[in-house]
Amino acid sequence: MRYHSIAIDGPCGAGKSTLAKRLAQELGFLYVDTGAIYRTVGLAARCRDVDPSDAAKVESILPDLTITMGYGEDGLQHMLLNGEDVTQAIRENEISAYASKVASVPAVRTYLLEMQRRMAREHDVIMDGRDIGTVVLPKAEVKLFLTAGPEARAERRYRELLELGQKADFEQVLQEVVERDRRDMEREISPLRQADDAVLADTTGLDLEGSFRLLLTLVQERLDTGEELD
Ligand code: C5P
Repeated sequence: MRYHSIAIDGPCGAGKSTLAKRLAQELGFLYVDTGAIYRTVGLAARCRDVDPSDAAKVESILPDLTITMGYGEDGLQHMLLNGEDVTQAIRENEISAYASKVASVPAVRTYLLEMQRRMAREHDVIMDGRDIGTVVLPKAEVKLFLTAGPEARAERRYRELLELGQKADFEQVLQEVVERDRRDMEREISPLRQADDAVLADTTGLDLEGSFRLLLTLVQERLDTGEELD
């Protein structure tokens, strides 16, 4: 049996996870948030006092990590780190930079690649991240590159943090967003970039409903006429 895959990439705060989650519900697909997996490695580095920019040190902790992805009765993706549910802990703002730093370590990306591909072999998936259309699922039927201006993305990220009950300062969030995107785009391995065959969707100025309609149309057009994975 062949499964459908939809890849959504883009910089942080573009609305990928909110929109991908809704699309997954609408289409009956499994939503896979790959950023959560990198965040789990980032959290492991922080818990062990490992400098996330020190590639050798980060690589040395990988054999001690068991990372599992599960889906609760709520249908939400839960991350387990050595058996402990870290779904909430990885959302701490501090973990964003940790995740982005460990994500530049080649051994980390190799370690996580098979886990992501396995999900797509076993389910219809909507997977979001930075390198899904370019590296993880280069044969995905639908590839979207979701973006928006930095201020709009920082604004979304800022509101998200407040909703999570975390303290946030808009200017600082904007700086962090810009810095994280720069790091994600400039790293040597699997940098954030639009796949040649991805459709660009810019959601600047669109509200959630407008963005959702835009994506749903793009996906439906392509799933209807798209070729099956081989
Ligand atoms: O999507 P999210 O903001 O949670 O991702 C956290 C970090 O994980 C990103 O800034 C990026 O560095 C890294 N990441 C990645 N490749 C992915 C998904 C996330 O490098 N496919």
